Amino acid sequence: MTTAPTTAPAQPTEEIQDAGHVDVLIVGAGVSGIGAAYHLRDQIPDRTFVILDAQDNRGGTWWTHRYPGVRSDSDLFTYGYRFKPWRGPSIAAGEEILAYLDEVIDEYDLDQYIRYQHRVTAASWSTEDRRWTVEVTRDDTGQRLRFTTGFLWMCQGYYNHAKPYRPQWEGMDRFQGLVIHPQRWPEDLDLAGKRIVVIGSGATAATLIPAIAEKAEHVTMLQRSPSYFYAPPTTHELAVTLGPLDLPDEWMHEIMRRQYMTQYHWLARTSFEAPDELHAFLIESMRPLLPEGFDIDKHFTPRYRPWQQRIAMVPDGDLFAALRGGKASIVTATIEAFTEHGIQVSSGEEIPADIVVTATGFNLSVLGDVAFAVDGEPVDFTERVTWRGIMINGLPNMAYVFGYFRHSWTLRVDLVGDLVGRLLANMQDKGATMVVPTLRPQDTDMRLRPWSDPENFNPGYVTRSQHILFKQGDREPWTHMLEHEQERDILPEVDLDDETLVYR
Ligand SMILES: Cc1cc2nc3c(=O)[nH]c(=O)nc-3n(C[C@H](O)[C@H](O)[C@H](O)COP(=O)(O)OP(=O)(O)OC[C@H]3O[C@@H](n4cnc5c(N)ncnc54)[C@H](O)[C@@H]3O)c2cc1C
Repeated sequence: MTTAPTTAPAQPTEEIQDAGHVDVLIVGAGVSGIGAAYHLRDQIPDRTFVILDAQDNRGGTWWTHRYPGVRSDSDLFTYGYRFKPWRGPSIAAGEEILAYLDEVIDEYDLDQYIRYQHRVTAASWSTEDRRWTVEVTRDDTGQRLRFTTGFLWMCQGYYNHAKPYRPQWEGMDRFQGLVIHPQRWPEDLDLAGKRIVVIGSGATAATLIPAIAEKAEHVTMLQRSPSYFYAPPTTHELAVTLGPLDLPDEWMHEIMRRQYMTQYHWLARTSFEAPDELHAFLIESMRPLLPEGFDIDKHFTPRYRPWQQRIAMVPDGDLFAALRGGKASIVTATIEAFTEHGIQVSSGEEIPADIVVTATGFNLSVLGDVAFAVDGEPVDFTERVTWRGIMINGLPNMAYVFGYFRHSWTLRVDLVGDLVGRLLANMQDKGATMVVPTLRPQDTDMRLRPWSDPENFNPGYVTRSQHILFKQGDREPWTHMLEHEQERDILPEVDLDDETLVYR
């Protein structure tokens, strides 16, 4: 087996250099970190800050994932920020999203604050000094740096960018072809005439397959079990209708946002209130797009409720077109072993392959795999509880951004940005240098629930990592994963002076 080459980070040096103090230190220059920086500058422009990212460029997810066909699942009117109109079609390619982020960085002059190849490895809070000491290793030089900050804003996303999840299968070492993970797509990969097997059935497989099917000899999607797919048009019919009116960009952005929010709120609500109807709707919407006689029950009928895992969007049904055209096919079976020239599955069939793409998902990462300590005590996250999915009990002056699963991630970036802005202003008004989410006496024996209730949301990367994640309680504000429809009203109204936030 040959795997795509990767560049190893430089070895860290012994010596640590002082890198100075900032009021706010943002970890991550993806959609969340760039959004956080905008909100900080917009709401409390007098604060000094820096953004550190382990990668060598901006964009987070959209920089890591540059495989053919990579694109958003969400519409860009809601995936785009509230403050920056989206001007393109509803669904965008990865590079269009990067170009949009570049415009945000340019327009708000954020580049000067970003330090690339700065991997945060540890963060220690001192109550005495009222500050975090943040240890950083530069992946390019190995140099070790020490920043201090009054407030840590974790925008690190939810998975490990450097180590993708790839299960091991028997016989992988004897496979003569190339094995690739979509997080590490080689730039110069020649697909012409190749037989490709894509292992996986999620959004990545669905976007990759139509993009490579034209060049390859054949692409087989090999899935253990089916997922939900939905095929909306790349450009929404409302956008088509509004097009000739030549509306200002801000209007178009707002109208389309409202349209998509309404649609997604309906979808999320229906998945709880009428899951069987939604299931039937999704399955039936695929039927006319599939080849005559296609076994839809076997290959496209999931055994879980819609939205218990993300619904993969297939804009304009391009995956189904590849299936109809015969350039792609689906095998639903369990992998028995890799052979020299392909993959042997449970039915006994051997699928020939020159290239295997393991679209098998992520290794979940808890707060960027940073080693946290508070006053010399290492933080064990499994004993902690979230405060509204934004802070964590007992961790002073620290907020994190975690977006929506059933809606555009970025909608929450803006809501959390507003709340953190209010929180920092509230601290200033009070003359406080420390704010800590703290369990009230009546909360100390509350029932703790897993980070994600499996009945609610249970994709593989969450299920595999539930044991290392922090918890949620059984009452507000110790819960998270509310839907956007509720949170857009709740978060702006949150009382920052209730007893769960202790200021000193
Ligand atoms: C292929 C793909 C498609 C997706 N499509 C959608 C979609 O259509 N809609 C949607 O809502 N969501 C989608 N998602 C989810 C997506 O991850 C989020 O939308 C969003 O990009 C997350 O942004 P983020 O900035 O929070 O995190 P990320 O994009 O993960 O960026 C985090 C950044 O933080 C850095 N970082 C992490 N830890 C450290 C550390 N210790 N030190 C320094 N830097 C660190 C990383 O290097 C990274 O650059 C998709 C995900 C994938 C993989």
